[in-house]
Amino acid sequence: MSDERVYVALDLPNVEEARAMVERLGDSVISYKVGLQLLPVGGGEFCRELKAQGKNVFADFKLHDIGATVEKAARSVAGLGVDLLTVHARPQVMAAAAKGGAGTSTKVLGVTVLTSLSEDDLHAIGHTQTAEELIRIRALQAVESGIHGVVASPLEAAMIRAIVPEDFLIVTPGVRPVGADAGDQKRVATPADAIRNGASHIVVGRPITQNGDPKAAAEQIIASLA
Ligand code: C5P
Repeated sequence: MSDERVYVALDLPNVEEARAMVERLGDSVISYKVGLQLLPVGGGEFCRELKAQGKNVFADFKLHDIGATVEKAARSVAGLGVDLLTVHARPQVMAAAAKGGAGTSTKVLGVTVLTSLSEDDLHAIGHTQTAEELIRIRALQAVESGIHGVVASPLEAAMIRAIVPEDFLIVTPGVRPVGADAGDQKRVATPADAIRNGASHIVVGRPITQNGDPKAAAEQIIASLA
């Protein structure tokens, strides 16, 4: 009864704990996200290991560098066999990643605006647009760059769905089941609302991994989408 649309974020200190979490979740979860916490401590090899177990793997490495470097980095990550890779949604970066991932099974996603950022945070770093305007611009640039999708908050999923091709991926973190702690996430919605709003996939971390019974928490979320 796993659901490939639900990516569990393995934001854990080391590969041993991540492996233990995957074992604990068992057949309930087929899709995993490996991010920046695991990347420097064996996260790349761990992605390969998860693929060898038949899991879907999302390498949330949020690349952002000069085009030549991003292109080669995207090619290296695609070599791990992962299904999804994130880069920051800037035109040069997305075009380079699209080139680096070309001809592989890895789909590239552009991170529009981090879901931990509020309007005030955006103004503080010099943006004059609202979060929604900025996300709209970046989603359209993602389509033009030839990448496969975007990461955005569930609150913007409907707006994005209306302006992108039908098969464009919209992956939403910032998802919280009713009653769960939002933590540092500012733009949140329930898993079911995220999917109703047009998300193709959702990412859930702490509500599952920090729960005393992660398997039950994952199963509840998956059931809420049925
Ligand atoms: O624990 P939580 O459910 O908040 O985890 C969300 C995950 O999604 C984290 O791994 C975070 O890095 C990631 N993410 C995010 N916002 C984005 C892109 C990725 O929260 N815009």
